Amino acid sequence: MNRGLRISRGSHPPVTAIYPGSFDPLTNGHLDLIRRSSGMFDKLVVAVLNNESKQPLFSVAERQDMLRDAMSGMPNVEVGTFSGLLVHYAKERGARVILRGIRAISDYEFELQMTHMNRRLEPGIETVFLMANEAYSFVSSRLVKEVFRLGGDVTGLVPPQVEQRLRQRIRGEGL
Ligand code: ADP
Repeated sequence: MNRGLRISRGSHPPVTAIYPGSFDPLTNGHLDLIRRSSGMFDKLVVAVLNNESKQPLFSVAERQDMLRDAMSGMPNVEVGTFSGLLVHYAKERGARVILRGIRAISDYEFELQMTHMNRRLEPGIETVFLMANEAYSFVSSRLVKEVFRLGGDVTGLVPPQVEQRLRQRIRGEGL
């Protein structure tokens, strides 16, 4: 844990951050962001969005299991789930920070809109951005699924247990 980077220090109350996303499935890009930010906050809640209008590959419970597996050595990181407005969930969990990742300029416009809207809805919550690790800046859950479906190798782009689940779900192996 990188204590030198901790945002919560001294007499400030503990800072909880929420990292929301679909995580369908978790990638090493998400995991890199979770590792880096877990050292900056007292508590990090990784929150799986339950969006019923989307057709996910993995259920919310499966996505949460994959996250828990990958984060077993990170004691201040919890896994949660939410539907509805993120700021309502953040308030419920006592979080003052929303954490998001930026991979490229293409992420920026959407993130800017969401940040302004969330600030309007809940001015007490700040959105904090981390730049993606350059090794994973091209990795998205959508692209990983597409490449895997077409028979491509995704080793190193997702944790091994996620690759295993992709094999079972998409190729029907190991059932
Ligand atoms: P995706 O955009 O891959 O479907 P999510 O909706 O789960 O992923 O994204 C949740 C958050 O994680 C967003 O802020 C997104 O920008 C960030 N993120 C996604 N992939 C990466 C990556 N490879 N590196 C850093 N951040 C990422």
